[in-house]
Amino acid sequence: MSYDYWCGVCRTISTHPSRAAAETGRADHIAAVHHGRRPDRERITPPPAPAPAPAPRPSVLIALLTKSKAATAFVLVFVVIFLYGLLKWSDRVAHTYLPAHAPTVQPSTAPPSP
Ligand SMILES: [Zn+2]
Repeated sequence: MSYDYWCGVCRTISTHPSRAAAETGRADHIAAVHHGRRPDRERITPPPAPAPAPAPRPSVLIALLTKSKAATAFVLVFVVIFLYGLLKWSDRVAHTYLPAHAPTVQPSTAPPSP
């Protein structure tokens, strides 16, 4: 964490541990090199701010769903079609591989009661 004083005329940079030290370095440089005249394009640069922690990134699907109603509608239609297909597939599998549990109805052989 350092403050840099940059002199645009001399094109030099001096590094200082604090803003006050950079101001003192600026005054010393101006007095010693530029005879008390402020040089052109001089500046004190503060230390760079620490990079913010990266925000948790939502998935692309969540971002689409929260920003676009068309994407939400598309996903809902896709889910409905998928569930319908899953239902049809499971029905076909059940009829193919599972024994029928429905009892067969036998015609009555007993004489009709009076
Ligand atoms: Zn200078």
